[in-house]
This record gives sequence, C-alpha cells and structure tokens, in this order.
Amino acid sequence: MVALLATGSVFVLEVYAALRTGSLALLSDAGHLLVDLSGLVLAYIALRWASRPATPQATYGFYRAEVLAASVNGFLLVGIVVFLVYRAVDRLRSPLVELDHVFVLWVALVGLAANVVAALFLHRDAGENINTRGAFWNVVGDGLASVGVIASALLVRWTGDPGWDTYVTFLVAAIIAWGAAGLLRSSMAILLETAPPHVDMEDVKRAVEGIDGVVDVHDLHCWTLTPGQYALTMHVTIEQRRVPTFHGVTQAIEDLLEERFGLDHCTIQVEPEGPAVDRFDSVQGELPP
Ligand SMILES: [Zn+2]
Repeated sequence: MVALLATGSVFVLEVYAALRTGSLALLSDAGHLLVDLSGLVLAYIALRWASRPATPQATYGFYRAEVLAASVNGFLLVGIVVFLVYRAVDRLRSPLVELDHVFVLWVALVGLAANVVAALFLHRDAGENINTRGAFWNVVGDGLASVGVIASALLVRWTGDPGWDTYVTFLVAAIIAWGAAGLLRSSMAILLETAPPHVDMEDVKRAVEGIDGVVDVHDLHCWTLTPGQYALTMHVTIEQRRVPTFHGVTQAIEDLLEERFGLDHCTIQVEPEGPAVDRFDSVQGELPP
C-alpha cells in the first residue's frame, strides 16, 4: 500500500511534467510507473484472492491467481515498450527544439526518491512471492529509469541537444523490456507446468529407482502450483517380493522426495513387476472371493 501511494503520486506528477515540457523520457518513466501501479494493484488483489480457501471444485484453491496476475503484468509491460519505441522513433524524425531540462531534472529526482521508498518496503518480502518479486524488480528498474532521465536532463544542459531526451527513452524502454521478459519467462514456465527449476527430474527418477524394491519409474510429472508450492505424480513398478510390503516402498519414496527435493505433495501409483497375476481375467469378470 505504501508502494502504491508513493508510485501513484509520482505518476501524476510525471505525466503533468511530461505534458508541460514535452519530455518523452519523463513520459516513458511515467509509463513504467503506470505498469508498476497496475502490477501493485494486481499483486494486491491476487494476494487477497490467492489466500482464499479451496472449494470442492477449485481443489487447489486460488494459488495460481498470483501467476496469472504476474503474466498479465508482463504483457502490459510489452505494450508500454511498443508504445514508447513508436513515440521515440517518431521523435527522431521530428526532434524537439528545446526542453525545460531543469524542470525535468527536479521531477526525475522526486521520482527517484519515491522509487527508493517503494523498493525499501517491497524488498522486505521479495523472496518467494512472484508478484512482490515482480513488483520489486519493476521498482528497481524504474529507479534505473529515473537515473536515466536525470542523466538525460544533465546531458541536454551540457550539450544543448534535446535529442538526449529521446535517446534515454530507448534506454528506459529496454529496461522495461528486460523486466517484462523475466516476468513472462517465470510465469509462463509455471502456466506450462514445467518442473520447478530447483528440481532436476532425471535426478528424481534416478534417486527413486535407487530405492530397494523399485524396478522402474514412469509417468513422472512435477509442477509448480504457485512459487513455493509444488506437486508431483509418478508410477512406480516394484518387485513382486515387495508387493505385500509396498507401503514401505512408498514411504521410502515420500521421505526421499521430501528430504532431498523439498516435495511434500506427491501422489504415487504402485504397479507390481511382471505379468499381473490377474484373478479377474481367470474368472471372466467375476469378482474373486
Ligand atoms: Zn504405470
């Protein structure tokens, strides 16, 4: 909420200043702030939503709301980048004649100060959560963007060329694009149900097949519900001699997965080795006694 208020007031100030001075660099900084704002609002809504309990139909609860919010934010960033590059190319063709660089400088300094405040507040819990992390990197990126705008105002002052305002716009657009790429990469990986980066699936397969009584592991899947919450399913073929005590095998697998890979939400299907001793077939569909 603190980050939201600080970012919101600076956004209004920067748009006003950008319109008054015609500075595209300031407008790009404001554009980045707009995405920060939507990102913060989305993160806030998603956090509230994600903490709702599971229902009989929504069995996983609403964890993925956070991941959805992060990807929406990533696409918004891409839109802002396209808009800024378009405007900057336009500005290269018809450059500004002059720029009130003193005013731009002061507004950019205020923007930088607000960013530092927001980053300090968000940094405290930016670890696991994809949205606070996304929002945190947005604010850091925006701090860099403000530094860029400050540098452009100084360059305009020293060289007398308002073109620096446009060159810095490309730089800010690149910073935003970099942030968007990271956010989209991590949220898409989760939506595509890829295995979490810290779990090497070949390693999991080897480790489980190393357990006494396990012959083979197949249909192995592991995915992220939301950062910090993982699920895994697998089929294991076990030796005939271990069938009566298969519970010991599944327990050993569960312990291994939890201790070594930090996976505690696992579903294991046990299948006996060799041709099934299938009593159902021999009695033609009748149930065994
Ligand atoms: Zn199977």
